[in-house]
Amino acid sequence: MGHTELTPSAPTSSAKYELDAPHLPPPHLRIFVNRNLRMDTVAAIGFDMDYTLARYKREQLERLAHRLTVEKLVKRGYPEEILKLGYDPSFVIRGLMVDKQLGNILKIDRHSHVGRVFHGRRPLNKDERRQVYRRERIAFVPPRFALVDTLFSLPEMCLYADLVDFFATRGDAGQVDTWKIFDDVRESIDEAHRDDTLKSVVKQDLAKYVERDPLMARTLHKLRSSGKKLFLLTNSAFDYTDHLMRYLLDGELPEYAHWSSYFEWVVVTAKKPAFFKDQEPFALLDPKGVPTGKAVTALERGKVYEGGNLKDFERMTGMIGEQVLYVGDHIFGDILRSKKASLWRTALVVEELEDEIRYSIEHAEDLQRLADLEVERRNLDELTSLQRQHLATIEKRLGAEEARGSAEFEALRLRRDQAKRQLKSVIAAIEALETKVDASFNSTWGFVFKESGENSRFAEQVKDHACIYTSRVSNFLGYSTHQYFRAPRDLLPHERDIMSTEDL
Ligand SMILES: [Mg+2]
Repeated sequence: MGHTELTPSAPTSSAKYELDAPHLPPPHLRIFVNRNLRMDTVAAIGFDMDYTLARYKREQLERLAHRLTVEKLVKRGYPEEILKLGYDPSFVIRGLMVDKQLGNILKIDRHSHVGRVFHGRRPLNKDERRQVYRRERIAFVPPRFALVDTLFSLPEMCLYADLVDFFATRGDAGQVDTWKIFDDVRESIDEAHRDDTLKSVVKQDLAKYVERDPLMARTLHKLRSSGKKLFLLTNSAFDYTDHLMRYLLDGELPEYAHWSSYFEWVVVTAKKPAFFKDQEPFALLDPKGVPTGKAVTALERGKVYEGGNLKDFERMTGMIGEQVLYVGDHIFGDILRSKKASLWRTALVVEELEDEIRYSIEHAEDLQRLADLEVERRNLDELTSLQRQHLATIEKRLGAEEARGSAEFEALRLRRDQAKRQLKSVIAAIEALETKVDASFNSTWGFVFKESGENSRFAEQVKDHACIYTSRVSNFLGYSTHQYFRAPRDLLPHERDIMSTEDL
């Protein structure tokens, strides 16, 4: 994958991806809009920390999480040989689904159509996929199916596939409990995050695991300077939060002596999504992070609180409903829950966007060709069905025998055969190009946002639940603090058709 910096003046190879306004940031650093959002009506902006304010060096962290999870599994009684299992970052992307019952990993599109399936590391072919997932209607929901939608849990995909293979090659095939393996993997990885095993290693060497965004401090400063109140609402505990935030922000701008001065309110161990629906009280922490035991009646600047809940937060800060924009990276914990329980507006950070957009621009020609081929396929589909219908009409009029001898019928049949051959070759070209495009992005799973020309299930969730989405928090720096983030017109297929038909 290339990493050419794109500037607004950079030439692109296709009109489709041309930058349309000179003042906009380059595409991979833009903020995209699902629901209109006027920044001047936002009075407070809240931030999640992990993978939102703090961007991790993903491969490093994933390797670490993988190793620690394997070690935990061995402690649970898994054979020591699994310590040799390596980590393959190309086997994981966000938005995959695990079928615990069959031991498969799947990528599905927005219509719940199963596009790709792996059993262990072996891809299932079309027939096998159809056999397993197309014979009856399946609801892809827990407990049988598990969605992997946080960056923290990505390594579990690779580990799960390898364990399924590991037990199968040991001769346990048929009696491997793929359901239990997944539950064990997930519990172990969760435990590694929860019990400090992972965070204590990260804390020792922040430079190795955490990326510093040089524009983060300026971004927060710009938002604050426009009068917005910023707050931090993280599930991480005080000690870890303090280490990470110091690393990210301290010493960046002279106006801010300490990372916490960027924020009006700081809440750690927030237990999202429970924060949004439960009633846990806020606890005031002392400077060392120990609960003071004092009752909390107001949230004060410069103090750090633990736990808490949405209702008390709104009451004590006076920041209510749509005045609040919450920025997080987890569709379920940060975005969906807050939206269900409150009127908070939401911004989702999807760091994969950056690579996906860069890649799309670099391969604009292939993607444009793919779009053209799709149009060609649709036209040929229509043509061949029309021809089929005409042939049937002639047959009906003349009778099957006589129709076959008629020049009209034969000429039409030749043309139909030709169109059919053309259609076949267009379909083959689409498949080949799709494979090429996908493989050069992620050879195993393709794009995070797409599955065979459709939006992936993950993309659909982003579209449905996030008001705006972007690849990193500092992208706000490229926009005015009064920006009216306006959603593009929502077009239904018939409206799109009308707009693209010139000769109406
Ligand atoms: Mg997070």
